[in-house]
Amino acid sequence: MFLDLTPEQAGFKADIERFAREVVAPRAAAIDASGEFPSDVIRAAASLGLHGVTVSTAWGGAGRDYLGYALAIEVIGRASATVATSLVVTNSLVAELVEHAGTDAQRDRWLRRLAGGEMIGAFALSEPSAGTDAANQQATATSAGEGYRIVGRKVWVANAVSAGLIIVFASTQPGRRGQGVTAFLVPADAPGITRTAVDDSLGVRGLGCMDLDLDVIVAPDQVLGRVDEGFGLAMWALQGGRVAIAAQALGIGQAALDEAIAHAKKREQFGRPIAQFEAIQWMIADAATELDAARMLMWKAASVKGRGEASPVESSMAKLAASEAAHGAADKAMQVLASAGYRRGSVVERLFRDVRATEIYQGTSEAQRMIIAKHLSS
Ligand SMILES: Cc1cc2nc3c(=O)[nH]c(=O)nc-3n(C[C@H](O)[C@H](O)[C@H](O)COP(=O)(O)OP(=O)(O)OC[C@H]3O[C@@H](n4cnc5c(N)ncnc54)[C@H](O)[C@@H]3O)c2cc1C
Repeated sequence: MFLDLTPEQAGFKADIERFAREVVAPRAAAIDASGEFPSDVIRAAASLGLHGVTVSTAWGGAGRDYLGYALAIEVIGRASATVATSLVVTNSLVAELVEHAGTDAQRDRWLRRLAGGEMIGAFALSEPSAGTDAANQQATATSAGEGYRIVGRKVWVANAVSAGLIIVFASTQPGRRGQGVTAFLVPADAPGITRTAVDDSLGVRGLGCMDLDLDVIVAPDQVLGRVDEGFGLAMWALQGGRVAIAAQALGIGQAALDEAIAHAKKREQFGRPIAQFEAIQWMIADAATELDAARMLMWKAASVKGRGEASPVESSMAKLAASEAAHGAADKAMQVLASAGYRRGSVVERLFRDVRATEIYQGTSEAQRMIIAKHLSS
């Protein structure tokens, strides 16, 4: 690898590769077929410190650097897109955010359990009218006694089927959009949360996505960070999440490329392996080149994020490039396998469906382009 890993990073990566090979990959097809949240696999991941990879050891995390985390997510993503996404949500969008913005009391109550794998987290930002326009929060949090009453609907909340903690965003200043949103730490079993499974999804099946109808009372100590400053926290969390989704996408894309190469070497037409045909070679060469180019952007974004710097452009570039390269790789793999890939239940068929989500969640490709352009032209 072009990247020189420290002995610590290399050792961690080797451990994750073993876990991915022995525990995650054998379950991937069944997770996809059943659409059931893989609680056992997610629990097992905790033994390798995969629930609080970058969280400091003082709070029960593994205390690893961001690059090590991203490398681990790529390895897991290569084995199962669903498991990788679930881990990205609980790490980047929940545990890292509680460590970043929480009080010591909040970290003590929630972060230790998240980082140790006793519970997983969910992140409830999207609403029926707040997708790409996430600042358009219609859920409201109004004063109720000393605390708040949160009323609203959240959609597509990954991990919700099994989460112990949900970070809920709601408007505390209706009309002020991103200037008036607050983040709340809400136990998933709080009275007043109705969870409904989202309709069957094309890919990353088994992610435990649910819609939430909320009418919940929260205490003042459940506010994460400062009142009205929650939107900035969501954007902070998503900078890390996008690095990790870039890594996940690369894992999916690499798995597709591996399948294409293996098939091209063994499938014969016109008396020779199809790998000897230039048309096939070019698809493989293009997919490998695009994945590697995107991988370097991912490494760069992980390094910037790991230094504790803001990484809006780097994270968005990494996610944009990686998700599109991975989509391209899955598409080319489908072409190389042709009917063998198009069959329901083939690995490439699953990867082809899974990869599409990486261009949608944690901000669509259009949203990433908007962020990049805004920062470069402001
Ligand atoms: C599998 C899955 C898991 C998810 N998990 C979570 C989760 O855990 N928590 C959570 O909060 N959300 C989650 N989401 C929601 C996800 O973040 C949103 O789907 C995403 O932000 C896009 O919003 P939308 O689907 O409403 O699309 P829309 O915002 O309706 O966009 C529709 C289309 O219009 C484009 N568009 C919108 N505005 C513009 C613009 N200004 N310029 C150009 N193009 C534009 C979009 O790029 C897209 O192509 C998840 C979604 C999926 C599919």
